[in-house]
Amino acid sequence: MTYIQQIIEEAKFKNPNEPEFHQAVEEILTSIEPVLQNNQMYIKSKVLERLIEPERQIMFRVTWLDDNGELQINRGFRVQHSSAIGPFKGGLRFHPSVNLGIIKFLAFEQTFKNSLTGLSIGGAKGGADFNPKGKSDMEIMKFCQSFMTELYRHIGQFIDIPAGDMGVGEREIGYLYGQYKRISNSFEAGTLTGKGLSYGGSLARKEATGFGLLYFVNEMIKYHGHSMEGKRVVISGSGNVALYSCKKAIELGAKVIAMSDSNGYIYDENGIDFNTIHTIKEIQRKRISEYLNYFPKAVYVEDKSIWNIKCDIALPCAMQNDIDLADAQALIDNGCIAVGEGANMPTTNEAIKLLLSNKILLAPAKAANAGGVATSALEMAQNSARLSWSFEFVDNKLKDIMANIFNESKQAAEKNGLYGNYVAGANIAGFTRVANAMIAYGAV
Ligand code: NDP
Repeated sequence: MTYIQQIIEEAKFKNPNEPEFHQAVEEILTSIEPVLQNNQMYIKSKVLERLIEPERQIMFRVTWLDDNGELQINRGFRVQHSSAIGPFKGGLRFHPSVNLGIIKFLAFEQTFKNSLTGLSIGGAKGGADFNPKGKSDMEIMKFCQSFMTELYRHIGQFIDIPAGDMGVGEREIGYLYGQYKRISNSFEAGTLTGKGLSYGGSLARKEATGFGLLYFVNEMIKYHGHSMEGKRVVISGSGNVALYSCKKAIELGAKVIAMSDSNGYIYDENGIDFNTIHTIKEIQRKRISEYLNYFPKAVYVEDKSIWNIKCDIALPCAMQNDIDLADAQALIDNGCIAVGEGANMPTTNEAIKLLLSNKILLAPAKAANAGGVATSALEMAQNSARLSWSFEFVDNKLKDIMANIFNESKQAAEKNGLYGNYVAGANIAGFTRVANAMIAYGAV
């Protein structure tokens, strides 16, 4: 057994029943092998053994009263994976599927993603197995307040800075920050990001993950001689990341022909209208099938994979393991040229291998969806300076950051003889910065 395989086995043994965490560890560790071969120092200092063990894992009870006056109990999590290059930072996910393994894989990935931004932010993730779907505004508020009543003691602008993720948008961040401010008796705006504009939020934060994904994909396809103009794009999901990916794809000249939610997908050969889908999903919080009320010629499909639709560019922006081996094969057969991962770990390891071996350009989540957290760090900078930057200023900074991330991933791949493999390139570039900091600190 190789050294890397031993570490993967150790991670599996120490964290049983956490398949998503195993998958993330395997994906990263196998791709950084070339760096370890040239750098024995990482092996001697046991950097990998340390990285598979989060610095801290917190699990807590969240009790709240629903609208019927009945007590409800959920489980809350915060995994503080690494503070090697900055305070812990990463989103909160409210979704019934949340468990420790899912939060651990997200926190692990976040460490390398945050490193890639070039900014001083460590990696963390949190959330709860709470299902916001169908809950009243009052119930959402009560849940958020109870969640923060425990979490507040573990976070702070120099300790750990949570943000949004699935099920946590501006409304939830408002309730969470309101409770934080109340119980800590301090207006420490830099403790949460994704805030509303009237209390310390940043312009362009809401758009940042989706816009950043398209900036990265655009750089990547340009480098390989393509452009976004006239490309047929399929996007899974219709939440925050999916919506703003759709908006930027259209602005760059592409045609978005399909989008989904957890019930089904809509297909519109004429191109999905952004304003309509935005109103249905972000403002009215309704199901995607409503789109047909506005565009009756569009088609709504349930129980079928969106990846069977013929497209040039596929953007998985919903949840993990969305594209499996069969989906990857369908994309290849239909002539897809690029996959851009807006969601975290949306492609299985087998599907990644198949896509890469068929020379499909793959923009990995760690690099391609880092625009959200990078803009969160810009929000923190504005909070520290007590200033607000314009939309254009933040958006231009985001564009520069995404171009840098692409270049770093490209250079790391090419330096290690892996031309066109941005999955390995991003992992190597993200790992090196964190590992060097860990070595500088000695035995911590
Ligand atoms: P949202 O909660 O806003 O949206 C999630 C979307 O995914 C919804 O449209 C949801 O549909 C859909 N979805 C959930 N499960 C399924 C399913 N089984 N099949 C099809 N669609 C499904 O989350 P975000 O947009 O914020 O996050 C999406 C992904 O992007 C996640 O992986 C997240 O970790 C990642 N990400 C998010 C960032 C951010 O800034 N928000 C930053 C970096 C990564 P429904 O409404 O039916 O549940």
